[in-house]
Amino acid sequence: MNEYDSERIGELLAASHGLQLVDDPARADVLVLNTCSIREKAEDKVYTQLGFWRPFKESRPEVIIAVGGCVASQEGESLRRRAPFVDIVFGPQTLHRLADMLDACRAQRQPQVDLRFPELEKFDRLPQRPGREGPTAFVTVQEGCDKFCTFCVVPHTRGREFSRPMPDILREVRQLVDQGVREVTLLGQNVNAYRGATGLIGEGDLAELLERLARIPGLLRLRYTTSHPNNLDDRLIAAHRDIPILAAHLHLPVQSGSDRILRRMHRKHSVASYLDKIARLRAARSDIRISSDFIVGFPGETDADFAATLELIEAVRFDQSFSFKYSPRPNTPALKLKDSVPEGVKDERLAILQGRIHGLARAYSEALVGTVQDVLVTGPSRRDPCEWTGKTSCNRSVNFAGPANLSGQMLPIRITAALANSLRGEWEPSAAVRRAG
Ligand code: SAH
Ligand code: SF4
Repeated sequence: MNEYDSERIGELLAASHGLQLVDDPARADVLVLNTCSIREKAEDKVYTQLGFWRPFKESRPEVIIAVGGCVASQEGESLRRRAPFVDIVFGPQTLHRLADMLDACRAQRQPQVDLRFPELEKFDRLPQRPGREGPTAFVTVQEGCDKFCTFCVVPHTRGREFSRPMPDILREVRQLVDQGVREVTLLGQNVNAYRGATGLIGEGDLAELLERLARIPGLLRLRYTTSHPNNLDDRLIAAHRDIPILAAHLHLPVQSGSDRILRRMHRKHSVASYLDKIARLRAARSDIRISSDFIVGFPGETDADFAATLELIEAVRFDQSFSFKYSPRPNTPALKLKDSVPEGVKDERLAILQGRIHGLARAYSEALVGTVQDVLVTGPSRRDPCEWTGKTSCNRSVNFAGPANLSGQMLPIRITAALANSLRGEWEPSAAVRRAG
């Protein structure tokens, strides 16, 4: 989501002020730091980075330094107190105001701070996206979170749940497809809690939005992330059965495999309810791969709790994870719990968990060898420009040799080898793709 916001900030300032991206910050007229506060040290990193930028402003006072995103939202005015040379502070929901803030800052020679949550206005005021290149794109459809897990800053920094109306999303995706985009990933903090105006009567859910998007000619693949287990309902499970362009991969964070810890996290789901959803999802689409986020070392996590997480990993056979050591965050209820697990134990648990999931992912990759996969070609390979790179439906990178101009095409590729972080394959134009399982 932050990458998406950064991309949009670049597009916005290109449209409003003709600004271009430069590689060297010393040459920039406007320096924008887009920040994330999900885990600890985010604030420290921001102040360190600002320390690097400060000399540019001292030697060229016309340089503008802007800080946006969740650290800005969390730190608020105190950011300007600690780094008074910052000219603009904007939250995740006010990035569309950046162009006006830049003008105001230059005209008034006054710092500008805007950290409100005006929701829809942000999307209405972002420019169209004429300059984008490449066959894949992210589209934010939902923001914010009402779930208040005890460890998490998101509800505090990004605000309450909010969904964009379907007609706006359909318009944006049609426009992207006209520009050559073939795969769209719908984004949201809790994207499957999506409930947006249909444009006719009332509101519709994510299953309905996916159905409507899947009808856009030229769109070849849809993904969505990130989801909360409680919002994975029967309609969405059925969408995985009924919508062929929906990818065979779902990121469904569980965080822990211990009910005791899930309760302390205020996740509002249990291990059993999670497993039940996975079983129903696999009944709907047998080849679906599941990835998750995990937190190790949450306050009070015992060896037995961690063993339960490892058990869950075996039961689900996760393919990939984003896993983190618990870190106490400002304004979150878990701050009141004693951060009881020693750092060394957290490190150890994280290494064990990541090692196990890596092993499972490796086994999945090896099982793909010999099969033919639908691969959406995303562009020339970075390592070898004579080769192409693309993504399988289950979200694996594949490199293969092929003639010019394959970008944006969905091709049948026979997988020939599983490497550490990618697959190798051969284009088999005559092959038909069969769903595994
Ligand atoms: N809405 C998603 C997750 C968004 S936050 C969900 O409910 O699953 C992304 C991930 O950051 C979380 O899934 C969690 O694993 C991690 N995270 C959030 N706060 C954290 C903290 N205080 N310490 C460690 N990891 C954290
Ligand atoms: Fe954070 Fe996700 Fe929990 Fe919301 S549901 S509070 S975003 S972890």
